[in-house]
Amino acid sequence: DPNMTLLYNIIQFGEGDRLLVARDISRLKRLEQTRQTFVANASHELRTPLTVMRGYLETFLEQDLPRPLLRGLSQMQQQTQRMESLVRDLLLLSRLESSQQIQSEEPIEIHHLLKRIQRDALILSAEKQQQITLDLDADKDLLGQESELYSAFSNLVFNAVRYTPAQSEIRIRWQTDSSGGHFSVCDNGPGIEAMHLPRLTERFYRVDEGRSSESGGTGLGLSIVKHVLMRHGARLEIQSKIGQGSCFICHFPADLLTQVEIDASETDN
Ligand code: ADP
Repeated sequence: DPNMTLLYNIIQFGEGDRLLVARDISRLKRLEQTRQTFVANASHELRTPLTVMRGYLETFLEQDLPRPLLRGLSQMQQQTQRMESLVRDLLLLSRLESSQQIQSEEPIEIHHLLKRIQRDALILSAEKQQQITLDLDADKDLLGQESELYSAFSNLVFNAVRYTPAQSEIRIRWQTDSSGGHFSVCDNGPGIEAMHLPRLTERFYRVDEGRSSESGGTGLGLSIVKHVLMRHGARLEIQSKIGQGSCFICHFPADLLTQVEIDASETDN
């Protein structure tokens, strides 16, 4: 049956005796597909009403209305923005889940991509005056899907901004060696307890529910990171120590590295 999905397990017992167990997981797979389609459709349908609501709220907020009313409207505007972020991340996640691999690889100028992320992070960090440094120690670029990698890398950098206090140091790095390419974001913030680390990339998993939802995140960030990396054959490593800080490291296989293209404008001079 071409529509049947089987999961094989080999159980070893005794001296060289092996048992092959095949389990029919077709129903499970169909259910998972139904769930994915539902989430994708629901998020898509929520976009239009949210845009309409945001439009009206913006107009109302410009009117000369009594203070309590304006306060309420401004709360509604904030919550609408939160819902829009949620819907955006849910849509992105369902798109990422719909196929195992990226469709096509394009050469990415890591230097430009990380500069852009650093700039966006500095805007987010404005009032906290964190130090966000960029350390590019490589002569290799990466092959991949640029918009997906922007989402993954920026999620890690924005998390560092959100979950560390004012004046913290955040270090963004890109290194390459014979084993592959390594993108990392390290901070000297509060750190994460070891017991949370294995579950951190689950959807909506949060260490501190109250603080995290205040932070402006959707709870889907690390789940998005995990999926983007999987689609690139890469893996995420998390190192963290309470009171010392956290490091999120993305390891890319060596076959995704390319020689840095020499910028034409530089050779002209
Ligand atoms: P959220 O939208 O809540 O940020 P994420 O999936 O991006 O969702 O992150 C999951 C949780 O991991 C966060 O709620 C936060 O508790 C924790 N976390 C992520 N990055 C850091 C960090 N750099 N320092 C401390 N905690 C972090």
